[in-house]
Amino acid sequence: MTAEPARQLPQLAVPCPACAAPAGQLCTSHSGTRVRRNNVHQQRTAAWKQAASASGSGGPCAEDGAA
Ligand SMILES: [Zn+2]
Repeated sequence: MTAEPARQLPQLAVPCPACAAPAGQLCTSHSGTRVRRNNVHQQRTAAWKQAASASGSGGPCAEDGAA
């Protein structure tokens, strides 16, 4: 059994504030001994949504490409 549906979740792009899992890593249980292979913490989804909206298209902070 190597199926890890959670690896396909876009939430993995951000670290998890709930279990301190780094970006790209699956969430773990509170003790860190078990991997959440099917989902991630709700806090991680919230953090991902915030990051997505913060860096979404049409942000007020336009970057100057002059360099
Ligand atoms: Zn987590």
